[in-house]
Amino acid sequence: MSEKYIPLSVPNLKGRELEYVTHAIETEWVSTAGPYINEFENKVMEYTGARGAVSCQNGTSGLHVALKVLEVTSEDEVIVPTLTFIAAVNPVKYVGAEPIFMDCDDTLNIDADKLRTFCETECDFINDKLINKLSKKHIKALIVVHVFGNMADMEKIMSIADDYNLKVIEDATEAMGTYYIAERYKDKHAGTIGDIGVYSFNGNKIMTTGGGGMIVSNDKQILKKAKHLTTQAKSDDIYYTHDEIGYNYRMTNLQAALGLAQLEQLEGFIESKKANYERYKKEIENIQGLKILNFNKHTRPNYWFYALYIDEHYKLNRDQLITYLSSKGIQSRPIWGLISDQIPYRSNQIFEIEKAHRYLEHVINIPCSSNLSNEDVNYVVECLRHPK
Ligand SMILES: *Cc1c(COP(=O)(O)O)cnc(C)c1O
Repeated sequence: MSEKYIPLSVPNLKGRELEYVTHAIETEWVSTAGPYINEFENKVMEYTGARGAVSCQNGTSGLHVALKVLEVTSEDEVIVPTLTFIAAVNPVKYVGAEPIFMDCDDTLNIDADKLRTFCETECDFINDKLINKLSKKHIKALIVVHVFGNMADMEKIMSIADDYNLKVIEDATEAMGTYYIAERYKDKHAGTIGDIGVYSFNGNKIMTTGGGGMIVSNDKQILKKAKHLTTQAKSDDIYYTHDEIGYNYRMTNLQAALGLAQLEQLEGFIESKKANYERYKKEIENIQGLKILNFNKHTRPNYWFYALYIDEHYKLNRDQLITYLSSKGIQSRPIWGLISDQIPYRSNQIFEIEKAHRYLEHVINIPCSSNLSNEDVNYVVECLRHPK
């Protein structure tokens, strides 16, 4: 093993984190009430331009609540991507619904053209409802994931959702800070275009609260319902009356203290990730058999994760490269195993999944922390240039 160690993605806590967390402790507001929570919600609302934001324990719980708010039940089905982290899909099962898996396109996001073909050819549209011909069930919603911080094609996706009356949940857990800079959704952030969006502040995301998440929407009713469900569905503050089954999903003041300090630095993180991305891209362009995948045009991505594509002209295949980098002290990882291939999902419906297999075989993520130095990037590039 090498003495050097460059992790894939680690938190960067050099701002006012300690100050705010200390303040939370000194004032003894450490739990699910306290001023930092509202302040953090407001700041996320302002930053993303959403009409409101509701904090939650993590991205997974946020997605769970999103499905509950949109009233997805065991009678329904939900269209999801197969190439993403499994937490994007597990909440579908939490509410008793079934997922239908879609392929990715060359951006690694859900393939909007195949999505339309699926709706056109595999479904009927009856009484404003998209009905799956195979299961005869109502497909009520669609979960879109902005993979690695790269905006999915929301223009196409929203027009399909309009045509087939699908609710859109944006899993923007990896895409805090990504927004359109042109065209129909100019200035719109990932997470604020569909009916409801969810961010994650897990330790490996672009900003972190240790664990945490945020639900955003432009619909006041949705926001109200989300707040209600994340706070035990209390209908009365004094008498403990509850009108439905709620959850203890609210973020703590300690998490929010971290979040505020992180949000202050987010644009800086993105700047540094962008600079490293460009440095990698320029250098790797000259290495035969390797390329760094692009982020979508018309967007300002958050540059969260860098996707390195390894083709047949490179000396090593995916697994050999991961092992080699590891021997050099460089952490890398393959893309997630396709969700439709995982044990709990093998019997679920899939639609024309092809590209996802190829990208799974050929893509790895390479170190991308916001505190990665030039020297680190150069070292990774040198190792890629001279595989053993
Ligand atoms: C991280 C992540 C989640 C889950 O967020 P947590 O805060 O870890 O629960 C969901 N979906 C995707 C695509 C993710 O990357």
